[in-house]
Amino acid sequence: MAATTVYKEPAPKVGHTENPLESMMSRFNVAAEILGLDPSTYAVLKAPDKQVIVSLPVSMDSGEVRVFEGYRVVHNTILGPSKGGIRYDKNVNIDEVKALAAWMTWKCAVVDIPYGGAKGGIICDPSTMSPGEIERLTRAYTMSMKDVFGPDRDIPAPDMGTGPREMAWIMDEFSKTVGQTSSAVVTGKPLVMGGSLGRTEATGRGVMVSCLAAMNKLDMKIEETSVAIQGFGNVGSWTAKLMFDKGLTIKAISDVSGAYWNDNGIDIDAAIAYKNAHNGRLDGFEGASLMEDADDLLTSEVDVLVPAAVEDVITEHNAADIKAKLIVEGANGPTSASADPIIYGKGISVVPDILANSGGVTVSYFEWVQNKQGFKWSLDMVTERADRIMTEAFDKVYAVSQKYNISLRIAAYVVAIDKVAQTYKFRGGY
Ligand code: NAD
Repeated sequence: MAATTVYKEPAPKVGHTENPLESMMSRFNVAAEILGLDPSTYAVLKAPDKQVIVSLPVSMDSGEVRVFEGYRVVHNTILGPSKGGIRYDKNVNIDEVKALAAWMTWKCAVVDIPYGGAKGGIICDPSTMSPGEIERLTRAYTMSMKDVFGPDRDIPAPDMGTGPREMAWIMDEFSKTVGQTSSAVVTGKPLVMGGSLGRTEATGRGVMVSCLAAMNKLDMKIEETSVAIQGFGNVGSWTAKLMFDKGLTIKAISDVSGAYWNDNGIDIDAAIAYKNAHNGRLDGFEGASLMEDADDLLTSEVDVLVPAAVEDVITEHNAADIKAKLIVEGANGPTSASADPIIYGKGISVVPDILANSGGVTVSYFEWVQNKQGFKWSLDMVTERADRIMTEAFDKVYAVSQKYNISLRIAAYVVAIDKVAQTYKFRGGY
């Protein structure tokens, strides 16, 4: 993976109205072509198994009943019960959920855990709702999905707009429908009710581990490497903290309030303490200067870029200006498919989302295993096992990228699709 690697893969074909589903499918198509996937398997893996759309009437605090739209898409269950988060967002839509569900299938296959992929969402703006309204909405959604969810069927987890609190409500509501406590129906629960040690930092830790593995291949030295991180929520702040502790220089961080730059490196412990004391935001943080345009973080003079906020931030419009040698995708889908050929053409290496951020689902899997065992693992055991899975997955994807002379992104799809396709052949169909 020298910085001058010339990638041979065909460019993804995308239309003008690119959305996450099209981005995902265009990469899937390239990987399917490289694998020589037969048309029947292609057709099976392309189509989601199940798409459920529900209307959720909820009493608001004002007395008014509002009807929310909720989704659950189960993309595939060939490798095992489906796994995937639930997103509460005013812009969530079925295409986004379909793309995110398919990404979960590929992500679980890349890290070789026995899960298929799913995703859920509710169109809502939790920032404008009371805790009681969010609880009633979550319970109504769970009740509507009682025949979809199940510890051996479909296991939700948090995503944007949801966290341990919502997972506790889902566990409780589902348990009522089956008449017994069902801890393993959902992961990302509070620690006291069966959550796993190490889950909170797991995604950021996986980003750090896969970044160091890629840096090793690129002969990048920790003490000479600078980093810019977009997003300072769960993934961004943990990635920053763990990279900072390893000795990398974090020159830029950002959140919705703007981007912050310090040429000498930002004290990440101070930034996290500031954020925790200021409503989860960085506005007014004095350990770095506010950048004039937050988008400039993506094209700043750093060695490593970590997008860890939202989708589609690296596009055909800014890809040519990126100066980092390495991009490690903490967020899901931060790079649009139309940017891929530009990035590859510049010889920039990308550790793709389905590999880089899979530490989260890996430790969610550990939570599920612990719940099924009725046993708790130590933090050391969780960390050691998660790091090993991430390193093995990186090595496998890297080997495939070398074998076919393709990018790590397409190599990750090749690894994932090959595993699911081979299992499908053994299991058979109608
Ligand atoms: P979060 O809600 O905890 O944090 C999001 C952060 O991004 C916040 O700091 C927010 O201010 C910032 N942000 C939002 N819009 C921004 C913008 N335009 N520019 C800069 N910053 C912006 O969310 P999270 O859990 O950290 O998830 C971030 C991404 O990582 C999402 O794509 C999510 O799907 C993905 N992901 C999360 C996990 C997980 O375990 N949390 C696992 C895998 C993937």
